[in-house]
Amino acid sequence: MSSLYEIPIEKLNGIGEKRARLFNKLGIVSVGDLIHCYPRDYEDWSNIVSIADAQIGEVCCVRAYVDTRPSGRMISGGRLLYTMRISDSSSFAKVLYFNNQYINSMITQGKEYLFYGKVTDDCGTKTMINPNFQNVGQSIPIEPIYSQIAGIPPRQVRNAVKQALSMLPENLNDTLPDKVRDEFGLMGLHDALIKIHYPASQQEKENAKRRLVFEELLVLVVGLSSIKNLPEKLTGISVKKNYTDDFLPLLPFCLTNAQRSAINDCINDMMNGGCAMNRLVQGDVGSGKTMVAAAVAFTCIKNGYQAAMMAPTEILARQHFDSFDKLLADTNVKVRLLTGSMPAKQKRDTLAALENGEIDFLVGTHSLISENVVFQNLGLVITDEQHRFGVKQRSTLLAKGTEPHLLVMSATPIPRTLALMIYGDLDISIINELPPGRQVIDTFHIDSSIRLRAYNFMKKNIDSGRQCYIVCPAVDNTDTGLFGVEEYAAKISSNEFSDYRVGVLHGKMKSADKDAVMNDFISGNIDVLVSTTVVEVGVDVPNSTIILIENAERFGLSQLHQLRGRVGRGKEKSYCILVSDAKGEEALRRLKTLCATNDGFVIADEDLKMRGPGDFFGSRQHGLPQLKIADLAENVDVLRDAQAASKEIMKEFVDSGNSHYNGLRAEVSMLFEDVGTQLN
Ligand code: ADP
Ligand code: MG
Repeated sequence: MSSLYEIPIEKLNGIGEKRARLFNKLGIVSVGDLIHCYPRDYEDWSNIVSIADAQIGEVCCVRAYVDTRPSGRMISGGRLLYTMRISDSSSFAKVLYFNNQYINSMITQGKEYLFYGKVTDDCGTKTMINPNFQNVGQSIPIEPIYSQIAGIPPRQVRNAVKQALSMLPENLNDTLPDKVRDEFGLMGLHDALIKIHYPASQQEKENAKRRLVFEELLVLVVGLSSIKNLPEKLTGISVKKNYTDDFLPLLPFCLTNAQRSAINDCINDMMNGGCAMNRLVQGDVGSGKTMVAAAVAFTCIKNGYQAAMMAPTEILARQHFDSFDKLLADTNVKVRLLTGSMPAKQKRDTLAALENGEIDFLVGTHSLISENVVFQNLGLVITDEQHRFGVKQRSTLLAKGTEPHLLVMSATPIPRTLALMIYGDLDISIINELPPGRQVIDTFHIDSSIRLRAYNFMKKNIDSGRQCYIVCPAVDNTDTGLFGVEEYAAKISSNEFSDYRVGVLHGKMKSADKDAVMNDFISGNIDVLVSTTVVEVGVDVPNSTIILIENAERFGLSQLHQLRGRVGRGKEKSYCILVSDAKGEEALRRLKTLCATNDGFVIADEDLKMRGPGDFFGSRQHGLPQLKIADLAENVDVLRDAQAASKEIMKEFVDSGNSHYNGLRAEVSMLFEDVGTQLN
């Protein structure tokens, strides 16, 4: 197979330099690439229906005689229309071709053909417009349909792939060792590649697909395990005593069972002695992850170590700092904040105190990983909203201690199979319970024509003491045509909300201004906070009960769910109003999903289905390569098989002397080459 990757597609008949460039744009450079350009769909010519049974509106294949010679005439717009009558023993129909002057030479009156296409109704006569056709007898049962390549007629793409397939050597080296193929009942590589393009039956297509999906997922899983198969790290940090009983009385509420069990998981890891904790705590928005982090940090600090917590935005870092500072005020634990925008002197003092060991718990943004941040004895690293950080940032912070414990927290519920793959090196605790008293957030999709009603509803809530968010997709609307927070806030505060206190918040504001606005909102001095997505993660103001999102179609599903999580954080009934005039099918499906469920895991699954894993994680940052045929959301069963297989073969795979795995090794390096991940 590998040699076919060395033959450029220009070598094929009918592909010149210009056409090759169009293929290249889509990453198809070699004959090997072309073979892996799998059909998007198929035309099933094997399922022939009679004209009488052909349903209007359906795509079908009929077998019929051509009764009349195709006759052409000019119609409006200078187009040439050919019409003919076809019939089988059940009935007759009309076939039309537009602008195809060759049709007369290709179709002979009196002969029988197969016609494939959509059946429409023309004044009571069944009609097929521009159907594909084949001679009876020499027909291919199932024809591949490839994705459009701009500038190349579909027929040419098909021909190119066909030629490429004919170059496939009969004795192709199989990527999968016989043992694996036997165990999972998978067809050979040569057959699978031919049959994914030209299956004789639906079943054969499924079998070919399963084999190729398996291979792709196996390559992925094996690749990821080789990256992550590092020995567990021994740590000298000794956490001897669990101080959770001293921590609980500091809280104004009782922890949920799920929070307790996550805390126990973490503390057990830390007290285990030997290996450093390496744990992901995953919980839907509002499940109370912050206090889990605080409890774990508390025990670590009481055992004589420093702890650090990194959050993705200044607003969130400050919020965490404020709540920890308040919570731990009557203890001897010293909490400090470190952000990039702090005055230089304050920063210097904080850094000095950190190095002296006068600070126990440092909370901050990315600034925690800068070089001049030195801990005295860092025992625990916590990253909040992990999906916002790259693996690299996490490890830079870890390197500031000597094998400190690691706790990562994420509110993006990731389907479990995927979590295992991406965080394969982490243990996982899931907080699957919300604090008591939470009510379902009612979510509505409205169009802009009834925005005023939504405003009135918000005012009523504000009058009874609550607060609201309005989220816009942009800071200003100069060239986007989208709602921008600044103008929006100016407009509503002089019109609809003139009797209310309106605040503005966005990422381009000075840090001190952001803090001031946030503090005003937290202390109830702002009724309506008009904001960009800076409030998306983590912001916690339980008194706010309505979030109205403008241009809701601009946001991804998981992002909307995160935004919605800003409300419903207290005991009051909360609402999320999605304003959108979008008509697109996909946008509507997203909004509908959000209205239908509050369950972050269901939403994550749906998001994954709609967008694929690449986009789901902001793509490349996570080092996940693009998949050609497998669908992580749909092929969960095959993924399980591939994971089982990878466990078995890993040992032999890493032994480079074992030549059974050469094919697999080659594919693994190729897949990961694309994302620039170094395999060891
Ligand atoms: P997230 O998991 O989204 O980070 P937070 O930790 O910000 O959630 O918690 C959301 C809100 O719920 C906060 O106001 C927090 O004080 C509150 N909270 C957390 N745990 C509990 C609990 N066990 N009972 C009641 N309220 C809680
Ligand atoms: Mg949080």
